Amino acid sequence: EVALTVPDKKVDSVCPYCGVGCQLTYNVKDNKILFVEGRDGPANHERLCVKGRYGFDYAHHPHRLTVPLIRRADAPKSGDFVMDPDRVMDVFREATWEEALALAGGTLSNIRDTHGKKSLAGFGSAKGSNEEAYLFQKLVRTGFGSNNVDHCTRLCHASSVAALLEGIGSGAVSNPVMDVTKAEVVIVIGANPTVNHPVAATWIKNAVKNGTKLVVCDPRRSDLARMSHRYLQFKPDTDVAMLNAMMHVIVHENLVDADFIASRTIGYDELKQNVEGYSPELMAPICGIDADTLRYVARLYATSKGSMILWGMGISQHIHGTDNARCLIALALMTGQIGRPGTGLHPLRGQNNVQGASDAGLIPMMFPDYQRVDNPAVRAKFEAAWNTPLDGTPGLTVVEIMHAIKAGQIRGMYIMGENPAMSDPDANHARESLAALEHLVVQDIFLTETCYLADVILPASAFPEKTGSFTNTDRTVQMGRQAIDPPGQAKQDLWILQELARRLGLDWNYQHVSEVFDEMRHTMPSIGGITWDRLEREHSVTYPCVAEGDPGDPVVFIETFPRDSGRARFVPADIIPADERPDTAYPLVLITGRQLEHWHTGSMTRRTAVLDALEPDPVALVHPLDLAGMGGKPGDVITIESRRGKVTLYARADDSSPRGAIFVPFCYYEAAINKLTNAALDPFGKIPEFKYCAIRVALGGEV
Ligand code: SF4
Repeated sequence: EVALTVPDKKVDSVCPYCGVGCQLTYNVKDNKILFVEGRDGPANHERLCVKGRYGFDYAHHPHRLTVPLIRRADAPKSGDFVMDPDRVMDVFREATWEEALALAGGTLSNIRDTHGKKSLAGFGSAKGSNEEAYLFQKLVRTGFGSNNVDHCTRLCHASSVAALLEGIGSGAVSNPVMDVTKAEVVIVIGANPTVNHPVAATWIKNAVKNGTKLVVCDPRRSDLARMSHRYLQFKPDTDVAMLNAMMHVIVHENLVDADFIASRTIGYDELKQNVEGYSPELMAPICGIDADTLRYVARLYATSKGSMILWGMGISQHIHGTDNARCLIALALMTGQIGRPGTGLHPLRGQNNVQGASDAGLIPMMFPDYQRVDNPAVRAKFEAAWNTPLDGTPGLTVVEIMHAIKAGQIRGMYIMGENPAMSDPDANHARESLAALEHLVVQDIFLTETCYLADVILPASAFPEKTGSFTNTDRTVQMGRQAIDPPGQAKQDLWILQELARRLGLDWNYQHVSEVFDEMRHTMPSIGGITWDRLEREHSVTYPCVAEGDPGDPVVFIETFPRDSGRARFVPADIIPADERPDTAYPLVLITGRQLEHWHTGSMTRRTAVLDALEPDPVALVHPLDLAGMGGKPGDVITIESRRGKVTLYARADDSSPRGAIFVPFCYYEAAINKLTNAALDPFGKIPEFKYCAIRVALGGEV
């Protein structure tokens, strides 16, 4: 039927899923998306993965929220709620926009005025546009009056960003993904691009076919490992041991770039001294990689004409995530493998706009463009720009906010497009915290698990229903354009933000999204040269783009690093074990992550016909020998339990996982695996340890 239907309009936009930022075209008829085509964008050159190509019909799903909802007075909140879409109206009643906004804004204002500015907090979204992220953080900072604003970057690359800001003065990538095609050696560590950044993976595969040597380092054998020159299946949680051993080799064999170290860095002597104790022979039994292989890879990386490192959440989601990233930065600095095409450091950003949302200041310690809230000169600048006094103390992060609710410090929250009831670690605790709030306002497109705990639900717009800019993992700002209208009474997020701001006492009057972007670029030097007109015309511009007319810089740090001294800084790291190690009661390790077909907490992709048909049921990936050892077989139901909770799901035999480690995607509400994960935090990035906790497994249970 679709194939025979001719679209009545084509709208150029970008993909709503991962940070690769593929450009696409929506083909629309009668306000319905018929199909999607890839466009010739800088990151995809017409390629799309299964999510980008088929993951659009969630926007038309009958579960869409189409009218504001208010919690019934006799519907108590409970952290151990059971999702029952058929009984939603037992819990909520329909309301007008005026009533819902008055209740939301009035109650949040009352809490602020009664209990103080720090009694409120907000979570924005990495799925929203730059303009939405900017206005959200501005609403919290000027309307709530504190810096208690964060979003899911805290759960993905906060530790990478902490290490990058500390070491090289910028939290973004040094080189675009496409530079793998110019590199002689590419290391992919703690990342599974085939699943999580599929089009980026295709460029890596193309590079390998053209002679690039690929080294994959990961406890789980990813699809890319099949194409690798070397695959290092190191033991979970031993990143620092393995990377320090490589640096030991580079120092001892004098493979360092002495000129680069002397002219571009500080702190090398401390690093050199620190890695002295990490010989390959000593580290081999710890990380599980033999000394010869460690030596070989270290030499390969150090001596090539261009080596590039890409990493993901296997690096960042540990209590030593910042240390892991510090080691990768040190590897690049000591060998001078940064500041040229085909080199550099690339933390693969997860969601479509996690880079842009962070840039826009959706983080508790920074105003837009990573300008620290506790810097008086910076604060004075934003006070002048926003015409209001601002708080100069960093706010609380995602997990800290959940604890602060339990402690009675945070009493009200506004959540736009995030689903912490599914995505936060120790999700039972997170749900109890959300249930304990005096007032929770949630703005979303579906009745998510977080909505179940809301007092007011504001029906919002899906990605193809609004226009805005989005920044991909390559630092490229791209234009997403409205293709269809929101359903029913659902509204565009910028409208909702502005209406709620007015009810908090703010006198906002943005007439068009371009006015928000224009305000942003005047407070954010890195995008100061990007105009809305240029985005409209060129579809994408890469920052830094400081002055109008600048072409934008895909490769940075060519001559200097954006730190006070202009030099990058080595920061040594030592081995810190995971917070919760296996023991006799909980003898196995849980690793969580994503699947190719499903996106984060699944609220969109599980309502997409093709994607849900491909992966309809909650699964755990178990090594076949471990599965057989417990008397099970593929397809059996198993129950996984940690000290914090348990879930039941189907076992899938998968020998890419190491023995003793079980991998579970976090997208299945029926088996919300974050009920099991550990909320222990990296002390620098405040990121939870999603990649390691102790579990036990038994056959049986009920899915
Ligand atoms: Fe979308 Fe990422 Fe797939 Fe590209 S690779 S189509 S951005 S999900």
